[in-house]
Amino acid sequence: MDFNLTNFSTSKSGDVEQVRVLIIGSGPAGLTAALYAARADLEPVVLTGMEHGGQVSLTYTVENYPGFPEGIGGQEMVERFQKQAERFGARIEFDSATDVDLSKRPFRIKTYNKEYLAETLIIASGATPRHLNVVGETEFTGRGVSYCATCDGWFFKDKDVYVVGGGDSALEESIFLTRYAKSVTIVHRRDELRAGPILQKRAMENPKINFLYDTVITEIIGKDAVKSVHVKNVKTNEESERPTDGVFVFIGHDPNTQLFRGQLDMDERGYIKVDQLMKTNVPGVFVGGEAGDPNFRQVITSAGMGAAAAMQAGHFLDEHVGYVS
Ligand SMILES: Cc1cc2nc3c(=O)[nH]c(=O)nc-3n(C[C@H](O)[C@H](O)[C@H](O)COP(=O)(O)OP(=O)(O)OC[C@H]3O[C@@H](n4cnc5c(N)ncnc54)[C@H](O)[C@@H]3O)c2cc1C
Repeated sequence: MDFNLTNFSTSKSGDVEQVRVLIIGSGPAGLTAALYAARADLEPVVLTGMEHGGQVSLTYTVENYPGFPEGIGGQEMVERFQKQAERFGARIEFDSATDVDLSKRPFRIKTYNKEYLAETLIIASGATPRHLNVVGETEFTGRGVSYCATCDGWFFKDKDVYVVGGGDSALEESIFLTRYAKSVTIVHRRDELRAGPILQKRAMENPKINFLYDTVITEIIGKDAVKSVHVKNVKTNEESERPTDGVFVFIGHDPNTQLFRGQLDMDERGYIKVDQLMKTNVPGVFVGGEAGDPNFRQVITSAGMGAAAAMQAGHFLDEHVGYVS
């Protein structure tokens, strides 16, 4: 295909479409990138992926995003993000990237429905918190089951909660939860924790934290909200039901970056390496949000990275493609 790099503009030809900015992901990072790119007149196209709106769309209320003093439903929040981006010309496609070739520009991105040739690519494919995969987990997500203490700890003032996990993040988040919760019971499937010794000491010295070793949660039970958990000792097979108001799951996150393996530099966990300017090792490919952020994992930080990635994509087009709007 003849691909003229000067005054490049979005155009369709059969099942192949040329775009200036393709955004993979429709969570806070992707939709914010879309807003910024659309306002720069770059006619971005957003691939929603299977989770339209991203992780936050699953949560009942978001209370830590500025501008919403009463809080806002996760679903409503991302609908507003999308509406705002569309108002300036972003196009949302209900499709997923299935294959990418970043070896030369324009980048070639295959989806279920077609193929894109993208002058710049913003990867906002996020991450997925690992799940327990037990009965009740999905049903009570946002109603007692949480994957984020910073997000939801406040809802558990003077309540009893269970935390699943034995690594650094499980202990860090448990200590954080003791600011609010009356008690925190850490359930760990092994007889010793994986977290570093200092964290272990701090957690063990905290009078609000209890430990349940060699134990797994097999079911989360409730009606409108979580009321109890069914637990099993993996050594004795003893089972019991224990009352609780919440279950926090901290058994790790998996970045949704398999598609880019071998083409982009990543850390050992699969997070894409990104510099302060949201650049990857491939010029013209930028990352926003959790796909490149193992640390902060919030709507506001992901949205901020998405905005920065879109601004960088604009600069890149100015410098390399000579785009004139
Ligand atoms: C239950 C829950 C509650 C939370 N509550 C809060 C809260 O109260 N406050 C807060 O600040 N944070 C909260 N978080 C964290 C917050 O949701 C995330 O930090 C944020 O959503 C990350 O945004 P992101 O855009 O980087 O990625 P994600 O939200 O993970 O979105 C990733 C997007 O990429 C898409 N995608 C993946 N692969 C492909 C592909 N191959 N092709 C196309 N698209 C693809 C997905 O469909 C999705 O749209 C919560 C998280 C969870 C799980």
